[in-house]
Amino acid sequence: MSGRKIIKPDLELINYLNENGGGDPKKCYQCATCTSVCRLSTEEYGFPRRQVLLAQWGLKEQLMKDPSPWLCFYCGDCSKRCPRKSNPGETMMNLRRYLTSLYDWTGLSRLMYRSVFWEMGVLLVVAAAIVLMFTLPRSFGFGLLAQSGSAPLSTVMLDKFAPAGIVDIGDRIMAVALALLLLSNAARMLYGLTSGENIPFSFYISQLPYFVIQGITQKQWGRCGSSDSTTNWLRHLFLVTGYVIMFTLVVVFLPSFQVNGIGLHWTSYLGYYATLVLLSSTVWILVDRIKKRTEMHAFSHFSDWMFPVLLFLSALSGILLHIFRISNMPLTTYYTYMIHLVIVVPMLVVEVPFGKWSHLLYRPLALYVAAVRNKAKEFQVERQIAGSAKTAASA
Ligand code: SF4
Ligand code: SF4
Repeated sequence: MSGRKIIKPDLELINYLNENGGGDPKKCYQCATCTSVCRLSTEEYGFPRRQVLLAQWGLKEQLMKDPSPWLCFYCGDCSKRCPRKSNPGETMMNLRRYLTSLYDWTGLSRLMYRSVFWEMGVLLVVAAAIVLMFTLPRSFGFGLLAQSGSAPLSTVMLDKFAPAGIVDIGDRIMAVALALLLLSNAARMLYGLTSGENIPFSFYISQLPYFVIQGITQKQWGRCGSSDSTTNWLRHLFLVTGYVIMFTLVVVFLPSFQVNGIGLHWTSYLGYYATLVLLSSTVWILVDRIKKRTEMHAFSHFSDWMFPVLLFLSALSGILLHIFRISNMPLTTYYTYMIHLVIVVPMLVVEVPFGKWSHLLYRPLALYVAAVRNKAKEFQVERQIAGSAKTAASA
């Protein structure tokens, strides 16, 4: 027997793709029309034809080593042109969901992407924990609601109802825990992409600025070229500014704006901007999905609804909270505050490390690995050319 490695199909991957998502890799007959129309496909990373084949055959190991599913920004050109209606754009999207569930070592992501009941269940458990935190007596929980006896009902005293110091500590613990979970999942992704490669560390260092630029701007999306893609990229960028500002305000500046009384603070104006962005962007996304306006929105997995719906409810409850606070409606403000946290905390806890939000880290990471590999290849070619020139000169 030779030492040739036998490649076995992963039946779980095949079943996952059969049961989830709107693409059908089985229909593909490998004509490659999709790859030829894709404006982001390159010689080094030709997609989506190859990935549809890997999906058809259940070749999980090859998919783990391939950054291509993350290099696709779902413009949908390939799906429009596929003669077999295999929907390769959606298969790429479904592979991103599948890969996200593989990177997550806790296994929660895997359960949530396969079952709406699991996703709803996890969200409800976290929401119930927040309600308990407010309602249990002080000796068991934060006892915030129990404290409302000391929060006056004549004027809004939010800091008396939910002391900013306590909420702030909770915020920071949550931010650190989420960052650790997300980073550990990203480390698994990086390991899967780079294990077995022999690229000098200096190449990884030299491409770090590219990782940062792609992480902040996702400007590769803009290179897609179609008018839909450019609009979607700019809208995405707009949305990202909204939740980055909101996240920073809540995690870093909470004690500055969660104060007693009804006055405004400089953070209020940033909050107005972020809320406006979140509300308008999520309405836009939801309308696109309802109307199936573009190829990208033609099929919606339940996880495609969950994140914009939760973001929309977070922004809406935040606006109501603010209106009730500046209108000096104490009891309504206190209850709306609790409802706001019951929406925001589960959304962050579930979506950042295990759900859709994680693509904000995975995508630039894949682009980064692709850039490192390209640099290493270029270097090797240059070295070979220099070596050949030297040999020719000495001959
Ligand atoms: S265009 Fe359709 S049939 Fe042709 S390779 Fe792509 S997915 Fe397969
Ligand atoms: S959806 Fe667009 S970017 Fe993605 S593979 Fe198809 S053509 Fe390429």
